[in-house]
Amino acid sequence: MTIVVKEGTASLRWRISVSGIVQGVGFRPFVYRLALERGLSGFVANTSEGVAIEAQGQAAQLEDFLVALREEAPPLARIGEIVSCSIPLVEESEFVFNHSDASGPVATLISPDVAVCAECLAEFFAPDDRRFRYPFINCTNCGPRYTIIRGIPYDRPNTTMADFAMCQACRREYDDPGNRRFHAQPNCCPECGPHLTFAEADGGRLGNGEAAVAEASQRLAAGEIVAVKGIGGFHLAVDAANARAVERLRQRKGREAKPLAVMVADLAAARRICRLEDMEVQALTSRERPIVLADKKEGHGLAEAVAPGSDQFGLMLPYAPLHYLLLEGKAGAMVMTSGNRSEEPICIENDEALLRLQGIADCFLMHDRPIHLPCDDSVVSFQAGMVRQLRRSRGFAPGPLTLAESGSMVLGVGAELKNTVCLLKEKQAFCSQHIGDLKNLEAYRVFRQSLGQLAALFEITPALVAHDLHPQYLSSRWAAEQQGLPTLAVQHHHAHLAACLAENRQAGPAIGIILDGAGYGPDQTIWGGEVLLGDARGYRRFAALESLPLPGGDAAVQAPWRTALSYLQAAFGADLPELPFMAAHECGMILAMVGKGVNSPLTSSCGRLFDAERRQADHSV
Ligand SMILES: [Zn+2]
Ligand SMILES: [Zn+2]
Repeated sequence: MTIVVKEGTASLRWRISVSGIVQGVGFRPFVYRLALERGLSGFVANTSEGVAIEAQGQAAQLEDFLVALREEAPPLARIGEIVSCSIPLVEESEFVFNHSDASGPVATLISPDVAVCAECLAEFFAPDDRRFRYPFINCTNCGPRYTIIRGIPYDRPNTTMADFAMCQACRREYDDPGNRRFHAQPNCCPECGPHLTFAEADGGRLGNGEAAVAEASQRLAAGEIVAVKGIGGFHLAVDAANARAVERLRQRKGREAKPLAVMVADLAAARRICRLEDMEVQALTSRERPIVLADKKEGHGLAEAVAPGSDQFGLMLPYAPLHYLLLEGKAGAMVMTSGNRSEEPICIENDEALLRLQGIADCFLMHDRPIHLPCDDSVVSFQAGMVRQLRRSRGFAPGPLTLAESGSMVLGVGAELKNTVCLLKEKQAFCSQHIGDLKNLEAYRVFRQSLGQLAALFEITPALVAHDLHPQYLSSRWAAEQQGLPTLAVQHHHAHLAACLAENRQAGPAIGIILDGAGYGPDQTIWGGEVLLGDARGYRRFAALESLPLPGGDAAVQAPWRTALSYLQAAFGADLPELPFMAAHECGMILAMVGKGVNSPLTSSCGRLFDAERRQADHSV
């Protein structure tokens, strides 16, 4: 692809390198257009650092080009640095768009998945558009990315769209530098792209396309549980105002009390059920579209079982075009919780969902665009004047955190519960999506797949693998199995301190107050309520909650009365009073265990202290 430039006008040639998120976001097409508008010759290409440009023309045009590169960059691009230098003129008359070349160097940053953009949405609702109500509409500025990429370079053959050959109309858009779908890898239409199907729980197909959506909507209205395939996996959807439906979902999913996320059609609907601060509105409508925890409003009209005992709902707005179809014309809200059994990762394949969600979902709304990696919804909360991430997943992963300092390539494999992994490359930390509890076989599979994906996408062979100090964590064992790579064991709470410093670009030393569930300490007790003094390199355990016996170890997490008893024993000794909650339990046996130190590891855990407090409070009257 070339443009012809008038000969004899060039006076300068610049080499410009751009780093950051510049692949899969329409950056090269954007550069190409800028060059075209300014009559420059040269080329644009991907490199292992980002994008390389050589541009030749008159000084004023070149300067203007450089300013526009930064100021008009496509919305999904995140420019790190632009470095330019003058080089000798070359005899040429064209500006060349270099296509990705699988054998050549490739760009390093992959965009997260992004909610459908306003322009695509306008087409989606325009009856005369060829993608009217087509739920897989996307462009260079929106749509799935991380969850459909199988390998690099980020080009169609390396995505889960490889099997969908573009029709002529789509191909024309894809090839046209002036089109907003120029090189949009998931580009497709009803003629050539994926489609919806509706299936009963036994797999029997009932309808396709619009009929599938209509059937799913009817079933939702009738109180059924519908499994809906989205961007990062399946959701389980029910009408959030239908108490019986929500209760059924809870029972079937084995989820007793944790709040369920709720999706509403728009901001007006969100305001009817929650009080929203400006920052919460911003987060709700952002292109990452996380779940936002927001205060419930009186008379919200949703079933109590959606978020029992909590004064907040986890709210989100539609982000896949399909969600808009499901919520169309509905004033109400839909529970949209991860499509999994408790503690398992979210389902992504149709056959897998039919199997794993058997007995939970009444019916299935699916599509045939494969999801390569599961990616749960992200969760944010407005606390102390800022929106803070509680779960960094879809919309954010694998977008990097920029660090203050550059270092060697390190792979962090995380702990065992709520696992995520992280790859350090130069000044950037690429964090995976939320993976979950590695003791779950399916989660452990996703853990290994995600490690492979990050290493492949960023072309990194780490110089060091950092893992938790606990030798029995599955992530620690995985690290130990890596042949030829040096490993480093990091104390769990030191990792928390270092991560907090890195995220805030502070070098320390700092006082870190870490209030946690459990982490293995170098003294072989379980730590968890720690005041550490240190930085990334090291720490001193300045103070900690008192270490007390945890009768039965992990079993006490499920039976917090045991912890309460142990803590009371420590406080009162021989004067331990009879308290109402004790009548219901075999306290003598537990006190004997504690007394003899049998199967009662010592812990300074803050989580266990909270368990004990809560147990007492429940029975204080
Ligand atoms: Zn779009
Ligand atoms: Zn098409």
